[in-house]
Amino acid sequence: MANKSSEKIEEITAEDIFGPGGLLARRHPGYEFRASQLAMARIAGEAFEKRQHAIIEAGTGTGKTLAYLIPAIRSGRRVVVSTATKSLQEQLFQKDVPFLQKNFAPNLKAALMKGRANFLCRRKVHQIEDQPLFKGMDEIDWFSQIRDWEKVTETGDRSELTFLPDDAELWNRLDARSDLCTGQKCPEFSRCFITAMHQRAHEADLIIVNHHLFFADLAIRQDDFGSILPEYSAVVFDEAHEIEDVASDYFGRRLSSYRFEELARDAESTLRLLRVGSAPLRRQTARIRERARAFFERFPEREGRYSFSLAERSAFLEQNREAFTELTSSVKRLETELSALAPKPEEVIALARRASELRRELAFLLESEEKGYVYWYERRGRGVFLAATPIDVSEILREKLFEQFDTVILTSATLAVGANFDYLKQRLGVRPAAESVLPQEFDYAAQAVLYIPREMPDVRSPSFSARAADEIARLLDITQGRAFCLFTSYGQMREIHERVSGRVPFPLLLQGTAPRSTLLDRFRSTPNAVLFATASFWQGVDVPGAQLSCVIIDKLPFAVPSDPIVAARVRALTEDGRNAFAEYQVPEAVLALKQGFGRLIRSKTDRGVLSILDTRIRRMQYGKIFAESLPAYAITQDVADVARFMESCPP
Ligand code: SF4
Repeated sequence: MANKSSEKIEEITAEDIFGPGGLLARRHPGYEFRASQLAMARIAGEAFEKRQHAIIEAGTGTGKTLAYLIPAIRSGRRVVVSTATKSLQEQLFQKDVPFLQKNFAPNLKAALMKGRANFLCRRKVHQIEDQPLFKGMDEIDWFSQIRDWEKVTETGDRSELTFLPDDAELWNRLDARSDLCTGQKCPEFSRCFITAMHQRAHEADLIIVNHHLFFADLAIRQDDFGSILPEYSAVVFDEAHEIEDVASDYFGRRLSSYRFEELARDAESTLRLLRVGSAPLRRQTARIRERARAFFERFPEREGRYSFSLAERSAFLEQNREAFTELTSSVKRLETELSALAPKPEEVIALARRASELRRELAFLLESEEKGYVYWYERRGRGVFLAATPIDVSEILREKLFEQFDTVILTSATLAVGANFDYLKQRLGVRPAAESVLPQEFDYAAQAVLYIPREMPDVRSPSFSARAADEIARLLDITQGRAFCLFTSYGQMREIHERVSGRVPFPLLLQGTAPRSTLLDRFRSTPNAVLFATASFWQGVDVPGAQLSCVIIDKLPFAVPSDPIVAARVRALTEDGRNAFAEYQVPEAVLALKQGFGRLIRSKTDRGVLSILDTRIRRMQYGKIFAESLPAYAITQDVADVARFMESCPP
């Protein structure tokens, strides 16, 4: 190779960058040659060049971020990269982008975009300053810090406010959500953090978003007006196994009881701040609150998600017609009275529009006969949520995503079922020109042992929990704690936690006793800790090293069949003459199991034990698909092998 320092990354091959002795080898401190990384960079590069879609499963340790970012930059096109979470976005923006700018592409312009609720609204800060109304000393102190910060921050991104608790109610009164934003008519528009974020995105080659923002934009992107993201032609989805769920949310309709409370709250504060409106108008907001409470109280007390079919909705409305009419008419009256105000500031027009949208949304969710959606409600804490979710998003995605943009790259460590992408392609409606399950970079057979007990009662048997607790206690003894015990239900998690407590000398942490991030911090910093948790810990959790040496899963993670979305999808496939169990439930569970086990081995030096206490993986015909889809772990039914394996691991 010629003089490398003068090479432009647009002009050299993927091999020259990712290969042994290549650019990356010379510039990345932690470089090691990874054949799968080079293969992925080639596939991604070809997708950008030939303008085609690609699906790539790349296991942990492949270095997949650089394997798509570098081809994206080389393409010279504006590329949107969408990740699953804000923390992954920040990692890309704060770690990978600066590395690329320093070493490969000094002129690279990148922008980080998040939802509006993450940013400060300057106008609200000034309005509150004029008429301060705080709940307690904490709020006074936080507001004073936020006011100082507003003068110096470049982004207005709340992630910079490390002192502000996650659930601080004050932030809801200061954030830049569109509800009260008057856009170009706002006196702060030119200095607004949202305007600045959009400007940076308009000038950027690389725009880093999360799936929520991406699909929020895609769902409203009828034309340029109203879209959130600037024009682009290529997208990379990292953690692409999550996009069906997120797309389902954004292409559906949803409303919560909180929206009525927020409307009343915002109307009150806006009228007060602008010093407009009469006493009867202000009383109207109190009426909305009361009537919303009275209406949503009519939903059954039980927690969880329940189907709300047309027949069920009609019966519900028949019984509660009066409460429904009172709520909608009070919202309508607010809307009319706001519209009649003169003069009518922009904020008031926006409020009247919001009241009208809320009324129509509620009517749709309770009365619509539109097919293709599953209608459901959920009670969670104080809130009631009503929703209509598309049963199948494949058509929508085909039309709005895969046919609109010529390059979509889907990647994740968990996309394939068996050794193919049939399931993903069918669920998402994508026909990729290239697809590849890349060889694993880790030596799973040497790094992990998968223990499936020889004898276990069936998971539905009453004796299962007691036996599962025995197995868990035995495994924890061997691995000296340092384990995640992951469960398919809260009930099972609590019962087994109860049974194991007192039998092992290790600190046990239980999901629900502290916020997720606090539990994870405690797990990382407490020697020999054991975490009992459910589905929300199966994904996106990274604990490299010996602190996590064991992952135990109670059952094959089939989705709960009574969940309205799952039930509707099963019904739709069955009515179509298809086998919903084989084509939907098993593949979903396979991907979930791959995710859960994926928590254990995060680097080449990680070692540890995996266990599934559900022997259906061995006994049932479909168990084979699970076994074939997992990496090639060493498998045993003998707990003595587990002990031997752990003895051979470095301390
Ligand atoms: S433009 Fe909207 S978000 Fe920005 S400062 Fe004004 S009201 Fe707030």
